[in-house]
Amino acid sequence: MKESNFKTYKIVTFGCQMNARDSEKLAGVLEEKGYIEIESEEDADIVIFNTCTVRENANQRLYGHIGQLKKSYLNNKNKIIGICGCMMQEKDEVEVIKNKYNHVRLIFGTHNIDEFGNLIDEVINSDDKVIRVYDESSNIEKSLPSKRVFKFKCGVNIMYGCNNFCTYCIVPYVRGRERSRSVDDIIEEIKADIRDGVIEVMLLGQNVNSYSGVASDKYSFANNEKVTFPELLEEVAKIEGLKRIRFMTSHPKDLSDELIRVIKSHDNICRHIHLPVQSGSDNILKAMNRRYDRKSYLQVIKKIRDNIDDVGITTDIIVGFPGETEKDFEDTLSLINEVLYDAVFTFEYSKRTGTKAAEMDNQVPEEIVKKRFKRLLDAVENCSGKNVEKYVGRVMEVLVEGEDKISGKLTGRLSNNYLVHFTGDKELIGQIVKVRLVRSCKFYFEGEL
Ligand code: SF4
Repeated sequence: MKESNFKTYKIVTFGCQMNARDSEKLAGVLEEKGYIEIESEEDADIVIFNTCTVRENANQRLYGHIGQLKKSYLNNKNKIIGICGCMMQEKDEVEVIKNKYNHVRLIFGTHNIDEFGNLIDEVINSDDKVIRVYDESSNIEKSLPSKRVFKFKCGVNIMYGCNNFCTYCIVPYVRGRERSRSVDDIIEEIKADIRDGVIEVMLLGQNVNSYSGVASDKYSFANNEKVTFPELLEEVAKIEGLKRIRFMTSHPKDLSDELIRVIKSHDNICRHIHLPVQSGSDNILKAMNRRYDRKSYLQVIKKIRDNIDDVGITTDIIVGFPGETEKDFEDTLSLINEVLYDAVFTFEYSKRTGTKAAEMDNQVPEEIVKKRFKRLLDAVENCSGKNVEKYVGRVMEVLVEGEDKISGKLTGRLSNNYLVHFTGDKELIGQIVKVRLVRSCKFYFEGEL
């Protein structure tokens, strides 16, 4: 039911952690303006869709949502339906929305999220649509207020965009080239988060290892030299009151020995590295433009495991990339068996218009992709749990994140990102507690406080 005395909003987020973080900022801006979050898209006075465009069929999902809102807009012509995010960086998509969905009143892109407050004012005071999408960012986004999903943890953007141009990926085209925030700004934001109750931060970027400090003119290490990601991480690790630091995503070609040293020497840097490999075949890695090969990837994994105790390593894999032969696919299966990941996020390759891979004429037939995907899942399932028996019986620190909906038990994460379920008081949510791991259930542990 509509809470008629209050102005309300709903933000619908698609896609990755960067988008989730952007949505927290959009929510923060609206809350500062006095809006209250509600669940219903139909009832909310403002509905913002923060879109993703990594997969081609994502737009159909968005159109479905917007189509359903037409009736509620006709009942309340003051309702503001807005769309932002990566999909709005594509001119064709903006044209479709403009021409077919007249009830969408606000469109903006990834480069001007810091204008959101003004854009809302503009659309409230205008009879026309407000469409403001830039091809590039001229400056680094200002700090915005944000409404966090969790009181005790949050994401912090350290950079935007990507320079890598993996041939299957649209991100560099829609998010632009890499731009790093200044060390000063990042540290100030984290300190403010800590004052507000945060004990864990996740440093976010498409490729955090190439953080270069290009915007760090106020804060310099050695005579204005560029600040590397390990240097930034080390500075963040020194911030008083910060109990845990995570980061995402690392590109294998840029993960340095120095980063491994920094992780090892600071207890508050979590023992978890997400290192997307995408394929175990050198031919496919080359076609993907990943700029590492199987051998060098495995060397990095070995260095990480040799140096960081109890580290959790997770990865992403794409199956069915153009030109992938049975032998290439088997190389991926053998890599999984060799690395024994702690978790694998699996994806069927799907053509993304606008990328080089979509133009390749050796696309793998869909039925083969599906069969290989099933075999990949079986391989991941067979490997899972092989790393975890060593933890059973140990007492480890868990950041309690919430309650498991099914069992009602508390649920939290180890430093290496494994989930732990255990019985305890809800008051513990947001705290780090010691838990004995009594049983491994492959993807999570059962424990006791
Ligand atoms: S590193 Fe590759 S996959 Fe990741 S965002 Fe950049 S281009 Fe896309």
